Amino acid sequence: RFITLEGGEGVGKSTNLQFIRQCLAGRNIPLLVTREPGGTPIAEKIRAILLDHSEEALTEQAELLLVFAARSQHIRHVIQPALQRGEWVVCDRFTDATYAYQGAGRNMDPAAIAWLERMVQGGLRPDLTFVLDAPVETGLQRAKRRGELDRFETEQLDFFERIRQSYLQRAAGDPVRYKIIDAALPLPQVQAHLLAELETLWAS
Ligand code: C5P
Repeated sequence: RFITLEGGEGVGKSTNLQFIRQCLAGRNIPLLVTREPGGTPIAEKIRAILLDHSEEALTEQAELLLVFAARSQHIRHVIQPALQRGEWVVCDRFTDATYAYQGAGRNMDPAAIAWLERMVQGGLRPDLTFVLDAPVETGLQRAKRRGELDRFETEQLDFFERIRQSYLQRAAGDPVRYKIIDAALPLPQVQAHLLAELETLWAS
């Protein structure tokens, strides 16, 4: 099983990733938890390039290609081997983030993203994708309180709104794979929803 966790800034992705990890570990499910961009030594170096624009501005095209370069390493060296060993893989962000951030956010052509997706992933798609959804301002306020806003101060609110809408639209197109979780609810309710979806998955 391949599960991905998605969402904009400050929606509680890290906290809920830990929750998912505990739920699955409690069921003795062999588990690999990883993240994108990153997840291998080379992919983590690419992540550092993606997040540090202090020396040189990254073009949108370079950003898109680097995201997929990292993903290729990650799939070949980490995700595929784990799935082949029969482990469940839980990944913090995956290709839906590319459609959201590089596509909707940075205006990269979704057809180009789809082409790269086929090239890099073949038929590999997550079995289940949680989209943690909250109004942009709620998420940004949470991120700000945690001092995570260095990058975002330069971004426009509508950049994050486009990201949110991209996630919601993709999720609406495939309600079997995507589960939208209202991340503005109190944490216990968010986690009750996550648990209910995980229970459905392991029963299937
Ligand atoms: O998931 P996490 O919040 O750690 O991601 C770090 C940053 O990388 C995010 O702020 C997000 O803006 C950025 N990112 C991106 N494009 C992706 C994935 C992440 O711009 N495809």
